[in-house]
Amino acid sequence: MQKIKKQKRLRRSFVTLLILVCGFAIAVTSVYMGYRQNMHFDLTAKSQTSTTKQPETEPDSTAAAATIVNDQNLLDQPSETQTSTTDQPETESDSTAEASTSVNDWYLILVNKWHAIPDGYKVSLTTLRNGQAVDERCYPDLQEMMDDCRAAGLSPLICSSYRSQAKQEKLFDNGVKKYLAQGYSEQEAENEAGKYYAIPGTSEHQLGLAVDIVDINNQNLDSSQEKTEVQQWLMKNSWKYGFILRYPSDKSSITGISYEPWHYRYVGKEAAAAIYEQSICLEEYLQKNALVD
Ligand SMILES: [Zn+2]
Repeated sequence: MQKIKKQKRLRRSFVTLLILVCGFAIAVTSVYMGYRQNMHFDLTAKSQTSTTKQPETEPDSTAAAATIVNDQNLLDQPSETQTSTTDQPETESDSTAEASTSVNDWYLILVNKWHAIPDGYKVSLTTLRNGQAVDERCYPDLQEMMDDCRAAGLSPLICSSYRSQAKQEKLFDNGVKKYLAQGYSEQEAENEAGKYYAIPGTSEHQLGLAVDIVDINNQNLDSSQEKTEVQQWLMKNSWKYGFILRYPSDKSSITGISYEPWHYRYVGKEAAAAIYEQSICLEEYLQKNALVD
């Protein structure tokens, strides 16, 4: 009898112990999970604040597709602000500095007089509040560059960015008309216009990876632009954000485009640093690295 009682008591104590152990384990797990979750929220909150950081001049800080420049004095507005989806295979980590470059990197795509945009090329755009738009993949770096330029006390203004084929055709035709009016023949007018306006289908602006940035105090698209404080800053610093001055004065024979001290092209941070350090242009960089035929 006593033996049975003892066994029962033993069993009860064992069950009690088991319950206690389980309870303790559950308590520890939930505390740990709570901690993990808090950590996660902290990180998310941090990354959100850094990505939505806005220039002081911008009152609206809520939209993901944030505005970079003021609405006033735009020289050029894209006629189309949004196209959808890209058919370019991509990985998020492609833009990191340690990623080695390959011919398939979206930010190294070469578009010039001799390399037209591939058929069916599509781009996912981030539309800026003033109507300008860029490839959404280069937007964060562009925003950071504009923020830092402003933080240096300067007033950069994006006056041109993504252009549709129709918009580029219109620009080029207007250029041709300008030279026809000056007495040039049709062929001569096209040649002249081709020095300043890319032939439709061969403009980097159609990629959404190029921006024309001027100083708000001098919005003339001519060589006087290079003397502005904004250009001085951009020429010195844009590579840190993955942008290059795409058409330097001494590379016209290679780029096919005259000096444009306002046209910046996103090529990623690794290529931008190399291009800046070696004073070369994108065509030379791609050739050096066997990234183009
Ligand atoms: Zn341009």
